[in-house]
Amino acid sequence: MQGIVVKLDRGYPLVETEDGVQYRCEHATSLVKGADVRAACGDRVEISVPEGHDKGIIEEVLPRRNAFVRKDPTERMEQQVLAANFDKVFVAEPCAQLNVRRLERELVLAHESRAEVFVLLTKADEAESAEALGRVRALVQRVANDARVLSVSAQDAASIEAVRACIAPGEVAILLGKSGVGKSSLVNMLVGDEVQATGAVREGDGKGRHTTVSREMVRIPGAGCVIDMPGVRGLALWDSDAGIDAAFSDVEELASACRFADCRHGAEPGCAVRAAVEDGRLAQERFDSYVRLRDEVQTAKKRVEEAKRIKSRTGHPRRWRG
Ligand code: GDP
Ligand code: ZN
Repeated sequence: MQGIVVKLDRGYPLVETEDGVQYRCEHATSLVKGADVRAACGDRVEISVPEGHDKGIIEEVLPRRNAFVRKDPTERMEQQVLAANFDKVFVAEPCAQLNVRRLERELVLAHESRAEVFVLLTKADEAESAEALGRVRALVQRVANDARVLSVSAQDAASIEAVRACIAPGEVAILLGKSGVGKSSLVNMLVGDEVQATGAVREGDGKGRHTTVSREMVRIPGAGCVIDMPGVRGLALWDSDAGIDAAFSDVEELASACRFADCRHGAEPGCAVRAAVEDGRLAQERFDSYVRLRDEVQTAKKRVEEAKRIKSRTGHPRRWRG
């Protein structure tokens, strides 16, 4: 039977088959032994349910259309797939505590999946005025480049409807963003139900603790599904060239006119990107962000290569400090 992994928590993956039946499943030993294949939320899997067994068995994880992968070169370099086979990525940033640097990184990671990217400017009601909101939105739109920017507020039902309209029936969206930006509240409003405990519920512990470690595909009435990605932090950029190219498609486009195909837009003659910065077609700030992220990826790649070399020599992974 084929099914989709609809929930991953501390227990066994929950798989829903085409006829709507859900099974807790374990991985077949052949999957976890060799390459250590683990199903992620959104994965299509082939399962069997042996007679007299209380659990199903995931026999195969079908090829992924795309994936959101935690790649962290500082942590033993193991990759972890956090979600698979989704169509849209919503990057949530709070309008009153917008962090442009963080948004830029989130956008690169979002684009890396090759899904369609949106920015949600959350808690729009916390903006000081309509003008202030407009200014933040304009800034965010510049950072977001081609991605659509939506402002949302729990106070404004129409803003939630606009998000719902972006997730067509049959589509899957993932929701990214720092803890506390209002992701669970948004999911609850999309669903019209308290499916996810929000910050309000756990107020009092004062620690901004993550509500849950589970990842679950939540069905939105009249729309598709959404997967909240709680506790996704410390997302390192590594091997994110495709994400940078997509997040900075404006820079890439200019770069196609550079004299050298491998121009680094530094001191090379005939650099079209620097020319665009000089005559104001490309904002200096945006160029700086591009260079910063590109160099960060470069450095991370070198570290990974180095760690691989050490590992192949000694058989031990080396943990990087800092
Ligand atoms: P998450 O950690 O991203 O899932 O964030 P939560 O949904 O748990 O929300 C964190 C806090 O922000 C809670 O206290 C919510 O009540 C509050 N919150 C969520 N959405 C909004 C909003 O649109 N406006 C305002 N003012 N507060 C919100
Ligand atoms: Zn150049």
